[in-house]
Amino acid sequence: MEEATDSKSNAEEGVNRQSASAAHLNEPSSEFSPAVHKRGARQYTPLPVLNDSSIFAPHFEDVLLLNGLGPLRRTRTVTFQVNVGKRCNQACHHCHVEAGPKRTEMMSRRVAERVLAVLDKSPVVQTVDLTGGAPELNPNFRLLVTESRRLGRHVIDRCNLTVFFEPGMEDLDQFLAEHQVEIVASLPCYTAANVDKQRGLGVFEKSIEALQRLNRLGYGLAGSPLILNLVYNPLGTSLPPPQQRLEIDYRRELHRRYSIEFHNLYTLTNMPIRRFAAYLEQSGKYSEYMGLLANHFNPETVPQLMCLSLVSMGWNGKLYDCDFNQMLEIELGAGPQNVWEIDSLSDLSGKHVNTAHHCFGCTAGAGSSCGGALSSTGAS
Ligand code: SF4
Ligand code: SF4
Repeated sequence: MEEATDSKSNAEEGVNRQSASAAHLNEPSSEFSPAVHKRGARQYTPLPVLNDSSIFAPHFEDVLLLNGLGPLRRTRTVTFQVNVGKRCNQACHHCHVEAGPKRTEMMSRRVAERVLAVLDKSPVVQTVDLTGGAPELNPNFRLLVTESRRLGRHVIDRCNLTVFFEPGMEDLDQFLAEHQVEIVASLPCYTAANVDKQRGLGVFEKSIEALQRLNRLGYGLAGSPLILNLVYNPLGTSLPPPQQRLEIDYRRELHRRYSIEFHNLYTLTNMPIRRFAAYLEQSGKYSEYMGLLANHFNPETVPQLMCLSLVSMGWNGKLYDCDFNQMLEIELGAGPQNVWEIDSLSDLSGKHVNTAHHCFGCTAGAGSSCGGALSSTGAS
């Protein structure tokens, strides 16, 4: 990756600088140094460095408590993130869903109708966030979009861009534009080699063609209500570079090379779960990566964590605190476990969020969520 690689290198330098200045950790979280330092008006406890590969991370809940930030409790649930299934036309290396063309788990009509019934009784929910797999491949995708819009909710489609070239998807772009669906599209680089390495041969070329088609419909243009946001995630085991700086690089390069416009770039941290966790384990990097995430715990990300204001639902109707917990089968902390045990998402405020080691992926550096970085500080 040209400029983006430079940015990542800068990020890695920043990471190493911070790590080198912190103390070595040989004991679990209960032995943390109680030393406290100030960031703005609040006081925070810094984490010692974890560079002993036999100890990959302290407990996330302990770190929250140590910083006076835990346990996590829900605020208002404004986003209903619905994972409609694991089928995808791609099979990317980093995919935390382990999605692919051979997966058969798909949301049924019955579950989709229940989603809409709960949504109707949840006026607090502003956004329906459709994800997968490739959500558009589910036969109930268009029902979920049209009915959510009829109920006056904003709809997000987490789109892999190549799905526009699948059979039956010829009019998908027009359908999305007609219903003013926000598109959040993965594009981990603006060069073919890096994108194809992570997402599969030929993915970059199709992605560029899809973005140009979306631009022709008005998506991504300045002032247009058709929102087109892009998603970057690192190719390997580093934290993402600063979001704002990378967005400038993307905007310049995509326009210069392909005349492509977009609204925002979101930087996401690779979560140490499922397919990416398997890669980390196979390459002997799991402990090192968990140490990187834990060492860069940024308390300023915690009030913005998406699990505070989002409920995630699986293809079979089960409820979770976020999509990552869903993939790990960590049940919703609030109590009801599926979409039939709850009438409305309006009454989850104040309820507990279940966390685990992977949560360090959301709080490292500038933080990470489905809407990108969570803090303007902490990025390298
Ligand atoms: S396109 Fe998205 S859902 Fe499909 S395999 Fe890649 S990361 Fe997973
Ligand atoms: S992984 Fe999920 S539960 Fe954990 S901090 Fe991130 S959003 Fe919250």
